[in-house]
Amino acid sequence: MTFDDRYIVWLDIDNTLYSASSKISQAMGERIHAYFVELGWSDDEASELHHKYYTQYGLALRGLVRHHQVDPLDFDRKCDGSLPLEDMIKPDPSLRKLLQDIDRSKARVWALTNAYRTHAQRVLGILGVEDQIEGLVYCDYSLPNFACKPEPEFYENALKRAGVTDPTKCFFVDDSKINVEAAFKLGWGHCVHFCERGLEVVEGGKRKEIGAEIPNGFTAITHLEELRAIWKEIFVQQ
Ligand SMILES: [Mg+2]
Repeated sequence: MTFDDRYIVWLDIDNTLYSASSKISQAMGERIHAYFVELGWSDDEASELHHKYYTQYGLALRGLVRHHQVDPLDFDRKCDGSLPLEDMIKPDPSLRKLLQDIDRSKARVWALTNAYRTHAQRVLGILGVEDQIEGLVYCDYSLPNFACKPEPEFYENALKRAGVTDPTKCFFVDDSKINVEAAFKLGWGHCVHFCERGLEVVEGGKRKEIGAEIPNGFTAITHLEELRAIWKEIFVQQ
């Protein structure tokens, strides 16, 4: 890999590049719940375990693979793969313009997601921004011991993939506070929490009001357009 000295932008995909108002997290939560029930747990047990694994591992699937030998690709097909995404999100010209306005002589633009490649590419394709993303680091469910956010290994692997030696060069935005915290702890330079206060999201099968948690030291934004001001140094000047 040739050395690339530019900054690098890491974009989370789900509930960051599209709004939580799309209710995709709710539909995802329902499918994951159904998957647990199909494995033989009662509704209550399924809810409890789903939430426990999400909290413990950042991803319910991680617990299912570790403790119950679930085939992650079967899970992905039945959960993310069965979402009617085309009915839930649509091409987003303002997102596209935002990404186009990142000065590519200064920064590369990559995506960093806990989803599998197929879901990530599907979302980017529907939003109409696939060609704006130069690299994709996804959760590789086909590996026996795959890592995911917020595990340090996942971020370290992302830097390796992109050939980044200096984490202060990273600009990162994610709707999950723990994912932002993890990047911050690893010395990622410009971490932003995308936080659509007042909207509702489903995490680990439980409904949660966004932004209800105690505020911390991160920059929090409610609209991606705010990045133009916060990350001024990497946007083309109008
Ligand atoms: Mg997200």
